[in-house]
Parts: sequence; C-alpha cells; structure tokens
Amino acid sequence: MVCLYLHIPFCQKKCNYCSFSSGVAGSEVFTQYITALKQELSDLAATRDDRHLKSLFVGGGTPSILPFSMLTDLIGYCLTLFNPTSLLEITVEVNPGTVDEEYLRALLVAGVNRISMGVQTFSDQELSILGRTHSSIEACYAVQAAKDVGFININLDLMYGLPGQTVESWRKSLQQAIALNPQHLSVYQLTIEGETPLGRAVASGEIVLPEEEKILHMDEEIRRFCCDAGLRQYEISAFASDGYECVHNINYWQNNDYLACGTSAVSCVGGVREKRITDTLEYIGCIKKGVSVVCESECLSAEASFRESVILGLRMTKGVSLHRLTARYEIDLVKHYGAVLDNLCKLQLVELTDSHLRLTAKGRPLANWVMVELV
Ligand code: SF4
Repeated sequence: MVCLYLHIPFCQKKCNYCSFSSGVAGSEVFTQYITALKQELSDLAATRDDRHLKSLFVGGGTPSILPFSMLTDLIGYCLTLFNPTSLLEITVEVNPGTVDEEYLRALLVAGVNRISMGVQTFSDQELSILGRTHSSIEACYAVQAAKDVGFININLDLMYGLPGQTVESWRKSLQQAIALNPQHLSVYQLTIEGETPLGRAVASGEIVLPEEEKILHMDEEIRRFCCDAGLRQYEISAFASDGYECVHNINYWQNNDYLACGTSAVSCVGGVREKRITDTLEYIGCIKKGVSVVCESECLSAEASFRESVILGLRMTKGVSLHRLTARYEIDLVKHYGAVLDNLCKLQLVELTDSHLRLTAKGRPLANWVMVELV
C-alpha cells in the first residue's frame, strides 16, 4: 500500500516565519512545474510493483494557489497511475483567501475527502505579524464554504507562541476554531528560523516572543479546549474526533514507507531516504533532461530505523507498539536501551505497558528531551 506526498512549492507571498520550500511564481512556471511533477509521478509509478494507493497528500506551499483545473487534473492523473480501490484519504492543503465554494466543490468532485486549512490564528493582528495574506473572517468563510459544499473531514492548522500573543488571545483563537466544528486540529508552537524576517526581528529584539511560562499555559489550554470539544489528542500536535485521525500522517509516525514527488519532497522506501532538489526551476530542468531530481540519499541501518520508529511512535498518544517493533526489527527494546530507558521510566516520563512504550502525561511536555535520550 502506498502513501504518497506531492509538493506544490508556490505561495501568494512568503510569510514572515516561513523556511519551507515555497515561493512566488507566475502561471507559466505553474504549468511547467505540474508537467514536470506528472513526469516524476509517472516515472515513479513505473518502478512500483505495488501501486495500491492508501493516502494521497497534496501539500506545500499553497496547493490552492493553482487554478482548480490544474490541481484536479494532477489528482486525476495520480489516480490513473496508482490503484485507488483501497484509497482512504486524499488531503489537499488550502489557505483561506485562495478558495471559494466553486474551488472546493471541484476538489470534492475530484475525490478529495480531507481539507487541511492553514488558519494559524484568528487574531488579525497576529496574522499580520506572521505576514499571512488572509484575515480571520476569510478563514471562517473558507471553513464554512468547505462545509457547505460537503466536506466532512476538515483540519485546521493553528499556531501558538506567536509574537504579541497572550493566553487570552490564544483562548479566543481556540474558541473560534472549535466553534467552526472541525474534525481535526493540528496545533504547533511557532518555531523561529534564523533566516526569516521574523527570525531576524526576534534576534534584534524588535519583536518579542511570549515567555516560556505563558507558552506552557497556552499548551495546557489546547488540551483543555480540545478535550471539552471531543477532539482527542492522538499525537503531540494532533487532535481529532474519533475516526478522523490523519491516515497519511499516522503512516509517517509508524515509520512505514512513503513515496513523494516534487521539489524538496522526501521519500523513504525500504530504508532508503531520498530528498529532492529545492529549486523549482532546477527541478523542472532536471526532469526535462531526464536527470534525477534526488539531491540527498541515505541508507538507514536496521538499528537507525529501529530508533526512528521508537522516536516517531512516541509522538503518538498510544505510543509505539512493542509487537510491531519486535516483528519488524527483531530488536528487544528493553535490552537495546537498557539503563537509559530504565531511568526514563523511573522519572515517570515514559511508561511500558504490555503492548506499548508511551510518553506519560508528565513526559509529554518534555517530549523533545525524552526523544534526545532515545535517538
Ligand atoms: S503559506 Fe505556508 S508555505 Fe507559504 S509562505 Fe506561508 S507558511 Fe510558507
């Protein structure tokens, strides 16, 4: 079964905090890129024995900046190359302000059954500091439009720890998000990247981030609001109504194989991880010349893959399955980590059940520290 990611590297404008592979481009480049992406897809499909698609995730960038006919044509093409009879999920990332009912209806008709909306915050002031192109009201309209055309699986991306954000304004964002009744929330703390306008403004002291104590409080508020709304935390940053957990992302967290096409996209098949080139024009040029677009390749040892499975599995609330680990790697987790694991258990940061190793409630806020111990 195949989980496939397609990267669309275009945005309306670069956000102030963004270090992803994305940029502004014109319609001529859109056309050339999609032609190249389809070529990479068809070359990839030709190498596969198993073409049964389980999930397709079209991310970016802002996929919804493409004309809907281009995006639906790409999805349709993908479904001709891969067998969709076992397909569970097609997600498309969209940004408020780039979609209307007509656009969203076209996605639904093309087979998209999950919309992931980059909302980030419902405070217009915070949106402006982030350099987002949409307003809070546009986000509400976009979610409502997705519901009106018939989407019943909608994720909202939210961010906390933003410059100028208070616990109170974060509560308002959470309240607004939950009032829209999404099936899924992905909630991330803002990461400051040095080589971005926001990174430079923070480094120079021009912009100040909320204090650590307030961020911890915001973090607690997420769980409280989501719990009250029936959105169960199933991963460090992900909350969903039962049955709406993201199939595509769970595949990553289970450290299973995944395929990917497009600039900067990373695939991992049979222990070989490959990253594609980041520059869009270079990518298009390579595909035209029939040259590989892979710029980094890494062959993971069984032990490295085992450790990654543990780290990724710990992201999920239910933890990492001991049975799956043993069956896949024939490595005994307890023996492998020895005193390190023993110590984490004694500190009550992780717990071993009969079937899983998982973070405790005490360990969850310290997940990064725990993972460094186990990596
Ligand atoms: S919309 Fe997303 S990918 Fe595009 S610039 Fe903003 S954060 Fe980056």
